[in-house]
Amino acid sequence: MNPAIPLNATGSRRLLSRVRDLMAGGGNAEERLDAIVRIIAADLVAEVCSVYIKRAGEVLELFATQGLNREAIHLTRLRVGEGLIGLIAAKGRPLALADARSHPGFVYRPETGEDIFHSLMGVPIRRSGRVLGVLAIQNRTQRTYTEEEQETLETVSMVMAELVASGELIDRQEMLQADGNATLPMRLPGIRLNGGLAAGEAVSHRPRIVVQRLVAEDVDVEIERLETAISAMRVGLERMFKASDLRGRGELGEVMETYRMLAGDAGWIARISDMIRKAGLSAEGAVQRVQTQMRDRMQAVADPYLRERLSDLEDVGNRLMQHLTGEVSAALRKDLPDRFILVARDLGPADLLEYDRSKMAGVVLEAGSPVSHVAIIARALDLPMVGRLETGVAIIDPGDPVIVDADNSQVFVRPGEDVQAAFRTNMALREQKRVEYEGLRNEPACSRDGVSVELNVNAGLQADVGQLDSAGAEGIGLYRTEIAFMSRPRLPGVGEQVELYKRIIELAGDKSVVFRTLDVGGDKILPYWKGQKEENPAMGWRSIRIGLDRPGLLRHQLRALLRAAAGRTLRIMFPMVAEVTELDAARNILEIEMSRARRMQHELPSHVEVGAMLEVPSLAFQLDALLPRVDFLSVGSNDLLQFFFAFDRGNARLSERYDPLSPAALSLLKMIIDKCDSAGVRCTLCGEMGGAPIDAMALIALGYRSLSMSPPSIGPVKAMVRQLSVARTRAFLTPLLSSPDHSLREQLRAFAADHGVAV
Ligand code: PEP
Ligand code: MG
Repeated sequence: MNPAIPLNATGSRRLLSRVRDLMAGGGNAEERLDAIVRIIAADLVAEVCSVYIKRAGEVLELFATQGLNREAIHLTRLRVGEGLIGLIAAKGRPLALADARSHPGFVYRPETGEDIFHSLMGVPIRRSGRVLGVLAIQNRTQRTYTEEEQETLETVSMVMAELVASGELIDRQEMLQADGNATLPMRLPGIRLNGGLAAGEAVSHRPRIVVQRLVAEDVDVEIERLETAISAMRVGLERMFKASDLRGRGELGEVMETYRMLAGDAGWIARISDMIRKAGLSAEGAVQRVQTQMRDRMQAVADPYLRERLSDLEDVGNRLMQHLTGEVSAALRKDLPDRFILVARDLGPADLLEYDRSKMAGVVLEAGSPVSHVAIIARALDLPMVGRLETGVAIIDPGDPVIVDADNSQVFVRPGEDVQAAFRTNMALREQKRVEYEGLRNEPACSRDGVSVELNVNAGLQADVGQLDSAGAEGIGLYRTEIAFMSRPRLPGVGEQVELYKRIIELAGDKSVVFRTLDVGGDKILPYWKGQKEENPAMGWRSIRIGLDRPGLLRHQLRALLRAAAGRTLRIMFPMVAEVTELDAARNILEIEMSRARRMQHELPSHVEVGAMLEVPSLAFQLDALLPRVDFLSVGSNDLLQFFFAFDRGNARLSERYDPLSPAALSLLKMIIDKCDSAGVRCTLCGEMGGAPIDAMALIALGYRSLSMSPPSIGPVKAMVRQLSVARTRAFLTPLLSSPDHSLREQLRAFAADHGVAV
């Protein structure tokens, strides 16, 4: 016996220590596997120990055995689900039977010579939740295996999974094909958050931590590492807890309290320590093992409340793992692949901006909604993005080749040659379309019956402004100033803002720019802004509300804008105005800054135009009072419809529930444009619907003559306008506005098809 192992060490610790020595020793992978099964059989006093590895085509192949006929190695194959071994793989759960042959799933393979064995205990070899194979022992007698023996076998199988995953037994490509969850190519349906097509290598936003060292070299050191990591995690949680000042308040407060409680949960910590002490795992190996056990338990729990708690505990476990391994968000990695697809459960707009855009080709999310701000940023960056992946994103491994086909709301993981060929063809077609749209660049957006529509772009990044000409747009209808604030490490001062706005104005040349004042809050979080967490941030302290309550911030921004536009026309609009008094208050602040500039003899803009964004339904009912006070109105349909339908625009479950092309939404939008037309006030729409050709067609039919959209939408919308007869479309749409339907989308689509309008 190894003298370093104390006599009271339990079975798995002793066994693991031997396995570790063996893995560290020489020999090729198959030889090591042979030795491992011998050690396991001896240690667990079993006559047989066998390893089955999953190969392509959902087949489990006998790779090593102690006790069965050796001729059966690489010969005996079972389909997943076939026989007891197949059953263990299919269910991903251990099975222990004193009399295996009486089990209905038992199948006999004569080449193995297993007819003399009665009992069987098998466990799946799993890694990252996937079954890579099965490890099984058998005995001649009808042996009842103990829980401790099962535990030992499961712990060894976890270590063995690393050997399998290293690619030394079968090559990685085949292992990917053999992956338990699907065969190639894997097509994962989701929803389109931003259209387009892209291919690249998967990069996990928060990488699934791959534990490099599972077995403890020195148990005491590992216990110490665990304790240090737990303290660091608790300090981190406490800090978060204090910063958000949520003690005892509402649901978020409860969640925080739960986390705190879980982080100090003596039972959980004791289980991890036990895994180190008794099983001889490293601290991270022990956390991983306890996490796997918990996941197994989670699958069996039906109670949604308990499931939620278990998933919180899993999250706490992941935090602990991060403290142990020092893993962080992938954005900070220096070695990102040249073309990558970012894969995340959820992502805030600031998270996305942290990545190197020259390398990021597309994004795949488990959550997400098309009008969430992260999707808007993706649109600004022209990044294809698919969200709400039905399977979840855990199925995609870092390094996997991925195709994001956002136009068709799907993602291909590890695509086969046929899918890759289709991808290349499709890319060529898209290029053709792009050239076609480019040909329209200098053509007017004028309908067949002579109606001109002004097409502007929404911008927030300098790159968008650079696209003004190539897109063939007339100007910037919405410049989201907060994006520059979000991608900086701290709040930019007046001087820095002046430079930024000047650059935008210069880049736009003779084209007009409408600057929207800072619209933060909701899901647009400034990384350095330590605001209070809110239970309902979309309806919370955001946007102009912050600007009016913290006038210093708004004044600095207006000061910078006035300076940047010295001698030229300055167009400003205020977001989220809910009532006329708010617009008056904001104008007042602008007036103060203009007087200050005059007093200081700064050159002022030659002309200042002020607009309000209509994003809150209440303002639609004050238009008579509002319109005489503004130079223009800009409809922010994303927020407007969120509040109109009472649906959280960032909530993935609601993303397709309400349609902007519903009679109700279109009636509201018609009321707004009619009022503006009567008052002779310019009205534009800058929400996402303006950039979707079919939605834009409906808006033009309602009377909108100015739309602002992300730069890549200009081409398709302009092409649509040039095929359109506005009068006919209006005549078709108007009577439908009183229909009781959920949406008029299909009727409009059929109309467009009948009239040769590409939507
Ligand atoms: C809107 O709400 O429609 C809008 C344009 O503003 P944002 O999407 O930036 O909130
Ligand atoms: Mg808005």
